[in-house]
Amino acid sequence: MEALQNWEVLDRVMVFLVGDARSAAEVFGDVLVRQVLKGSRQSQSGGGGSCVGLGDLIRAMASQGVGSPTRSSISIQDQALLAVLHGGDQTFSYVTLASQLELKSSGQEANWEVAQRVHSARMKWAWSRRLDFPRWNQIQGEACPELDVRAPWMQRVMDREYEPRVQSLITTHVAQCSECLEKMNRYRYFHTQIESAVRKELREIETRGESQGWDRSTRHRWYQKLLRDGVRLTRGIRIEF
Ligand SMILES: [Zn+2]
Repeated sequence: MEALQNWEVLDRVMVFLVGDARSAAEVFGDVLVRQVLKGSRQSQSGGGGSCVGLGDLIRAMASQGVGSPTRSSISIQDQALLAVLHGGDQTFSYVTLASQLELKSSGQEANWEVAQRVHSARMKWAWSRRLDFPRWNQIQGEACPELDVRAPWMQRVMDREYEPRVQSLITTHVAQCSECLEKMNRYRYFHTQIESAVRKELREIETRGESQGWDRSTRHRWYQKLLRDGVRLTRGIRIEF
C-alpha cells in the first residue's frame, strides 16, 4: 500500500460532499455522527471487523441526502471519486481509490473496474457542466494501443495506471504515431478541463463551508471525535493528523 495521508482523502471528500449542505455543522454534529457510530457498532457486533470505512460514511451521507443538488446527476460515490482524484496535488492510484472508497473489494479486474468508473464519472461531470467531450478519431493502426471507449488508454496513461514497461511502450508509440498523438492530446485537454472544474468547485464549496462554521479546524475536531469514539475511517489503514 502506498504511503498516503488518509485524512487528506477524507477531508477532500467531506468538503466536497458536506460543504454544500444547508447546515454542515448540523449534519456533522448530529445526524451523520449517529449514523456512522451506529454502523460501527453493528459491524462490531456482527464480528466482521470493527471499523467504518470511508465507503460506509459516504453511504450514510447518501442516505441523508447530503450533497449538492447541482451534482445530483452524479452519484455521491462518483463525486467523492472525482474530489479525491482532482481535488489536490497528491495523486492516488486506482488501487488506493478502490480500497479507500470501496469501489471494488478485490480481484484481478479491480483496476479495470475502477478505470471504467473513473472514466464514467469524468464524462458525467463533463456532461453536467457542459464541458467539451473528448472526441477522438477511430483510426486504429496495427501497432496502436486498442481503444476501449469504456476506459480509454489515454486516461490510464495520464493517471499513470500502467506498469512502467507498458507505460513507456505506449508513450514511445504515441510519439511516433500522429493518430495516437491526436487522441492523447484531446484526452489531455479533457482531463485538464475536468481537473480545473473540480478544483474550482471544491474551492468555492470550501469557502461557503467556512462561512457556515465548517472550517478546517472544525472538521478536524470532528474527525478526531470519531477516532476517539473508536471509529476507524479507513479499513486497515491508520489515519494521521
Ligand atoms: Zn498509433
